[in-house]
Amino acid sequence: MKQIVYPELKYPMLEINLKKLQENIKFMVDFCVAGGISIAGVVKGFNGAPEVVEQFVSAGCSYIASSRMDQIIELKEYGIDKPFMMIRIPMFSEIKELVKFVDISLNSELETLNMIEQECRLQGKKHKVVLMLDLGDLREGVIDEEEFIKLAVYVENHLENIELYGVGTNLGCYGSIMPTEENLGRLCSIAEIIESKINRRLTMISGGATSSLPLIIDGKMPKRVNNLRIGEGILLAADLEEFWGYDMKHMHKDAFVLKAQVVEVKYKPTHPIGEIFIDAFGTKPTYEDKGIRKRALLAVGKQDFGLHDKLIPQKQGVKIVGSSSDHLIVDIGDCDTEIKLGDILDFIMYYPPMMYLSGYSFIPKVFI
Ligand SMILES: *Cc1c(COP(=O)(O)O)cnc(C)c1O
Repeated sequence: MKQIVYPELKYPMLEINLKKLQENIKFMVDFCVAGGISIAGVVKGFNGAPEVVEQFVSAGCSYIASSRMDQIIELKEYGIDKPFMMIRIPMFSEIKELVKFVDISLNSELETLNMIEQECRLQGKKHKVVLMLDLGDLREGVIDEEEFIKLAVYVENHLENIELYGVGTNLGCYGSIMPTEENLGRLCSIAEIIESKINRRLTMISGGATSSLPLIIDGKMPKRVNNLRIGEGILLAADLEEFWGYDMKHMHKDAFVLKAQVVEVKYKPTHPIGEIFIDAFGTKPTYEDKGIRKRALLAVGKQDFGLHDKLIPQKQGVKIVGSSSDHLIVDIGDCDTEIKLGDILDFIMYYPPMMYLSGYSFIPKVFI
């Protein structure tokens, strides 16, 4: 693979390819829109970098969504001109900012909704809410159907400055529950009960995140679902292939690349020498003895990427062996080209390293 050299830049760095991202987002937006589904582009996974968010906008995302108020405020001030969606249930301590900066928020608590209403009156503003139904994943949302319907009717009839924009759900986060025709079908039928009680159609029925995409691919998405909130599926496109077995070859998986520099190359035993106690993080791993192997040490660590087993080496033959706070150890015994001190190795990644690397301000982000 061609090595791009940035002599003036520091390593480790996160290289973000905006053209590849643009193509990924465009593909996914077009695909969903063809199925009658709008996309809220979720920006929390890369700390809301405006350069990336611009790609979300130009590729046709209808909304920009984050779980972090700071990211939304920064993007608003940067000049991103799309409806903003707050996708973490708001804290009491951020209601002022919520009303000031956010157009739509996901909600599940009556008391919070009352506070939003009060703040709207103070600021002379309107706010839209999507009420969250918990279909069994057991993170946010109202779990009881009757209570959910009552809450929706309350917002509609008693909160003048809050518009009941729609209903939504979240799956596959805490409880690992798979989105299905059945559980999302239940969201839709409860939405229709609410519609019959308020005598109008809801604008949004938001059926989840990346993990709901397979239902569209398989043509099984309930008809009334008209929105998804997507992050991973357009940024990395790794999960659907790895965990769901879908062929995502039309998506770039290398839009985010970690580049790190080799600081040591040595032949070493593969089994530690001496009495095995605990590692740098207080755990007691097991080690397989593969004899003497050639290994490289890279100047990047858990502080940067969080989890080394969610990184994928791009150079043929490189295998990740382990890591500590500031070091990554790779086996290079099977590489057919020589790896030398000072070389830069590339890694693509799953969601967790993207989130850690982009949130950490000491890692330079290079946009190409
Ligand atoms: C993070 C998040 C999403 C996006 O999840 P992806 O798996 O990245 O698509 C959607 N909705 C909510 C409520 C979230 O917290």
